Amino acid sequence: MYFEPEIETMPEGELAALKFFRLINTLNRCSRSPGYQKIFKANSVDINKIKTLEDFRSLPFTTKNDLRENYPWGFLAISKGEVVRLHSSSGTTGQATVILYSKQDLDSWANLVARCMYMAGARPSDIFQNMSGYGMFTGGLGFQYGAEWLGMVTVPAGAGNSKRQLRFIQDFGTTVVHILPSYALHLGAIFKEEGVDPASLPIKIAFIGAEPHSDYTRKRIENLLRVKAYNSYGLSEMNGPGVAFECQEQNGLHIWEDAYLVEIINPKTLEPVPDGEIGELVITSLNRQAMPLIRFRTRDLTRILPGKCPCGRTHIRLDRFKGRSDDMFIVKGVNVFPLQIETVLMNSPEVGTNYSIILETINDVDVMTVNVEVREEIFTGDIKGLNKLSDTITAALKSELLFTPKVKLVEPGSLPQSEGKAVRVIDKRKLY
Ligand code: ADP
Ligand code: ZN
Repeated sequence: MYFEPEIETMPEGELAALKFFRLINTLNRCSRSPGYQKIFKANSVDINKIKTLEDFRSLPFTTKNDLRENYPWGFLAISKGEVVRLHSSSGTTGQATVILYSKQDLDSWANLVARCMYMAGARPSDIFQNMSGYGMFTGGLGFQYGAEWLGMVTVPAGAGNSKRQLRFIQDFGTTVVHILPSYALHLGAIFKEEGVDPASLPIKIAFIGAEPHSDYTRKRIENLLRVKAYNSYGLSEMNGPGVAFECQEQNGLHIWEDAYLVEIINPKTLEPVPDGEIGELVITSLNRQAMPLIRFRTRDLTRILPGKCPCGRTHIRLDRFKGRSDDMFIVKGVNVFPLQIETVLMNSPEVGTNYSIILETINDVDVMTVNVEVREEIFTGDIKGLNKLSDTITAALKSELLFTPKVKLVEPGSLPQSEGKAVRVIDKRKLY
C-alpha cells in the first residue's frame, strides 16, 4: 500500500526531527551559493544562529525575481562539474527561471514521483503513457524518470497528436497516464468524435496537474476518460512534479514533508496565516543538493487541510489550489480568479471542453467576454435554446463574480487548444 512505509507513515515527532535536521543541512549548503551569500549579507543573516524553527522564520523569502536576477548559475550550491541536468519553468508568468540538478537530485526526484504515483495505485505491472510535453518542461522527464523508478513500462508519447495518443493506448494497453487537465478534456472530446467508448480502453488512472482546475473539471475528466483522476502538484523550483499529490482518498494533496518544509503566509503581510486558512504556499527544499531554496514564494494559493488522512500517511495535506496570486485580475474593481469562472462553466452540463476570457476597455469601461464552447448537440439545436443557455451562464457568472460579463457561445473545437498549459485569459487592456 505504501511505496516507502517508514517515511510515509512516520510519526509526527520523528518527522519533525528529520525536517529540522535536513533544514540545518540545507542552510549550510545554501551558504555555498553566491545568490544566498548576497542575500544573507544584505539581510545580515548568520545561519549559525538558526537553532529553532522560529529562528528559521526570521530568514528572508526567496522569490522568482531573485532567481531571475541570478540567472542561470547564481543559486548553484555545488560545483558546475557536479551538475547533470538543467530545466526551466514554463514561464507562465514572466521570464522562465532555471533549475539545476545533481545526480543525487535526479534520483531523489524520481523517487518522489514514484512515491506519488504508487500512492494513487500505479504498480510496476502498469503501462504508463506520458502525454505531457518533454524538453525543458519538468512534467516530461520528471514523470518519465519517476515512472521508470517505479518500474512501469513508460511510453514517452509527449503532448498533442490525439489520434496517435489513442492508438498508443489501444496498441500498448496503457493503464496509467499523465495529462494536463485542459488537454484531458480535449482528448475526451476526440474519443467521442472517433466513436471510441472510453469504457473499452484500458486506462484506469490519470494524473492531472500543472494547471489549476476545479473539482468539476476533475469529475468531467473522470467521466470522459473513465478513469480515476488524481491531482498532481509540483513546480520546477522544487524539482518539478512530485511535490504534492492526492492519495486514493482524493481529498487534498499530501506534500512530502521529508523533502519540503511548508509554510502558508498572507501574501500582503508576509505573516503566517492562522491554521487552516488560505494563503500563499512557501516551500523550503530539504534535500536538494545543486540548488537548495529557502522560503521560496510559490505564489500558489492553498491551505493546509486539518485532521489526519484515513490513508495513514502522516504528511500534511494541501487543499486543491485556488490559482496563483498573480493570476488574479481586476474587472470593474472586482477581484477575479480564472478558476471561479472555470468552476461555474464546468458545473454546467451543456458547456463543452474549452473556454477563454477576453478583457477589453470599451468606451473607458472594462468589459469581460467569456467565450464558451458548447456541446455539439446544443450548438446544432435551436437559437432559442442557445439564448436561454447564454442567459443561464451569464446569471451564474454574475452571482459568482458580482458583475455581469458578456457570454459568447461558440462551436465545439473553435477556440485555440494549447499543447502546453492552457492560456485562458487574454487581457487586451494592457495594450492601451
Ligand atoms: P511556471 O511557474 O512558469 O508555470 P512550472 O512549469 O514550474 O512553471 O509550473 C509550476 C506551477 O504550475 C506551480 O507553481 C502552479 O502555479 C502550477 N501548478 C502545478 N500543478 C498544479 C496543480 N495541481 N494545481 C494548480 N496549479 C498547479
Ligand atoms: Zn491520504
